[in-house]
Amino acid sequence: MTDQIPQRRRLVTAIPGPRSRAMMARKSAAVPVGVATTMPVFADRAGGGIVVDVDGNHLIDLGSGIAVTTVGNSAERVVDAVKAQVDRFTHTCFMVTPYEGYVAVAEALNALTPGDHVKRTALFNSGAEAVENAVKIARAYTKRAGVVAFDHAYHGRTNLTMALTAKEMPYKHGFGPFAPAVHRAPLSYPFRDGDVLTGRSAAARAIAHIEAHVSPDQLAAMVIEPIQGEGGFIESALGFLPALLEWCEAHGVVFIADEVQTGFARTGAMFACEHEGLVPSLIVTAKGIAGGLPLAAVTGEAAIMDAAHSGGLGGTYGGNPLACAAALAAIETIRADDLIGRAQEIERLMKERLRQLQRLDSRIGDVRGRGAMIAVELVRPGSVDPDSASAVSIAAEARSRGVIVLTCGTDGNVLRFLPPLTMGDELLHDALDVLAEAFAVTRRG
Ligand SMILES: *Cc1c(COP(=O)(O)O)cnc(C)c1O
Repeated sequence: MTDQIPQRRRLVTAIPGPRSRAMMARKSAAVPVGVATTMPVFADRAGGGIVVDVDGNHLIDLGSGIAVTTVGNSAERVVDAVKAQVDRFTHTCFMVTPYEGYVAVAEALNALTPGDHVKRTALFNSGAEAVENAVKIARAYTKRAGVVAFDHAYHGRTNLTMALTAKEMPYKHGFGPFAPAVHRAPLSYPFRDGDVLTGRSAAARAIAHIEAHVSPDQLAAMVIEPIQGEGGFIESALGFLPALLEWCEAHGVVFIADEVQTGFARTGAMFACEHEGLVPSLIVTAKGIAGGLPLAAVTGEAAIMDAAHSGGLGGTYGGNPLACAAALAAIETIRADDLIGRAQEIERLMKERLRQLQRLDSRIGDVRGRGAMIAVELVRPGSVDPDSASAVSIAAEARSRGVIVLTCGTDGNVLRFLPPLTMGDELLHDALDVLAEAFAVTRRG
């Protein structure tokens, strides 16, 4: 039983151990190099905030499988719900003979997402697929083609979402040509913009840039992450997002909030849009939605969602019954265990420790993020020049000591922390001790 995995870090071999090494050799022979791994370590079991590898090492999980296992790995309610569903049926295809779980997830998302207008939800398999569908829906509704996306954006790896994604390497390099009619706009990035740009003035800059390149009446949608994920956990200055939303409303452009990474309590609110009281026209969710089962959703205003004709939306597996059962259990876990409150506690604990570390280590230019979505941006001391070499070496030192740490950022110089919200203080402190050690050894070296 996974809930019996002790919530403690414990290393019994070097990282990677001999079994992981042997499996990595098999992987290299069987899987293309394009599918890379953060750690050369194979998972055997996982529970809560611990991943146990095939050599018996207990690793602290500060990545949650990239913001997915928000309710903990193999969370009890999720496991029970999936087991019960797997005994009833595994698949019928919602487009052939529908089932209640899909409708129940749609009802839950319609109620939970910002705004009390009438909404609809359609379910898909992945974040990228849901973003694509949000754009399809916006195009059907507006009868326009153009889409605005932002610097540092990440929206997925399909053709349209590669076009929306900003970063060339590794996501786009050599994979074009990309979907047309995508226009890129400058973001608000307080650490790099300096203190000069308020949210409103950063929005004015973005809008001026957009209007110089495309007439708003050609735009179906603006797609934006309320806090950017892969791009570097960038929180725009307050006022930036509301100003963009106002502009979209004034020009009939559908505002699509990509909450794939920020949704489901991750940022200390059910959705990151709530921090500024934003009510997006469409909201895209995935990752944390179903405790690790593949599920994604587009939720939004009924008039927009119903613009796509009957049969125009769907997919063989979209809203798979196991994933829907898992989603309902994950949502119930967030509510019953007050994981929104827990995310806020994690933010306080982590920011305090990381700011202590910042006082010791001038490579930490910025400590930022919300809830359990926290990052440090590494720079050459006294500047904002990215120091990706330090990010790589610090992450490697932490991993070799049994802490799963991810990096991100257009320059790869950001360490990002996404612990499951169920992780206890003791485990978090141990992970932060390891990080402090990793900073110390790389400072000396
Ligand atoms: C991960 C991510 C996606 C893509 O989701 P997949 O499930 O990997 O397709 C899209 N948008 C954001 C903000 C993400 O973080």
